[in-house]
Amino acid sequence: MTGERSADCSIWERDSRLSLGIMTDLLTPNIADITSDGVSLSGDLTGEELGLTDTDVALRGTVAVGLDLRAVDRTICVTGVVEGTAIRQCVRCLKDFDDPVAFSVRVAYERETKPAPPTAKREAAHKKKEAPAVEPKPEPDDDLYYYAGDHLELAPMLREQLILVSPMHPLCREDCRGLCVRCGKDLNEGPCGCTEEPVGNPFQVLRRVKEQLREPADRQTGGGA
Ligand SMILES: [Zn+2]
Ligand SMILES: [Zn+2]
Repeated sequence: MTGERSADCSIWERDSRLSLGIMTDLLTPNIADITSDGVSLSGDLTGEELGLTDTDVALRGTVAVGLDLRAVDRTICVTGVVEGTAIRQCVRCLKDFDDPVAFSVRVAYERETKPAPPTAKREAAHKKKEAPAVEPKPEPDDDLYYYAGDHLELAPMLREQLILVSPMHPLCREDCRGLCVRCGKDLNEGPCGCTEEPVGNPFQVLRRVKEQLREPADRQTGGGA
């Protein structure tokens, strides 16, 4: 029974959680503090604290993180919300713009079944945990993370969630007109001169090519030098 991924995070009732006033570290809560009653964590975090680089997601200021953690058997269920502002570059006009970010988190942490890394050695002796039977890993799951040692590492999870909610093709606004492909003018600021010209009507291009094939004399004059 203990080896199954039987934890059911859906049985949570928000009002039954217990709030710990003094929470140690927002991003590395101690496993021992996370009980079946649950604990709440909240705070403002910078991109740096989350391990985000500007190539991942650039943040305007900090993100507000509020998480509830609850132990269900061997699993720790983490739910909550993340809110902040990302700075993104519009794929059409290439301008940076502020993009409000708000999403909910719902993930589970399970104890890593491999031997704990060296960081686990502090305090590990005081409570001997029954080692779970070695079993094949479940398929990689976006919502499943692993912990080892005596604390959770929330930063990598939050970083990943922030990257996951980032749009592949950010737009400063749905109807962004982008840049003129000829002169590079930002068409959101008004039309440029180029837009008046007829652009590449395929039939006109074809006709021009045919005419050139009929009169190869033009080519010869240009091909000398
Ligand atoms: Zn744009
Ligand atoms: Zn133009």
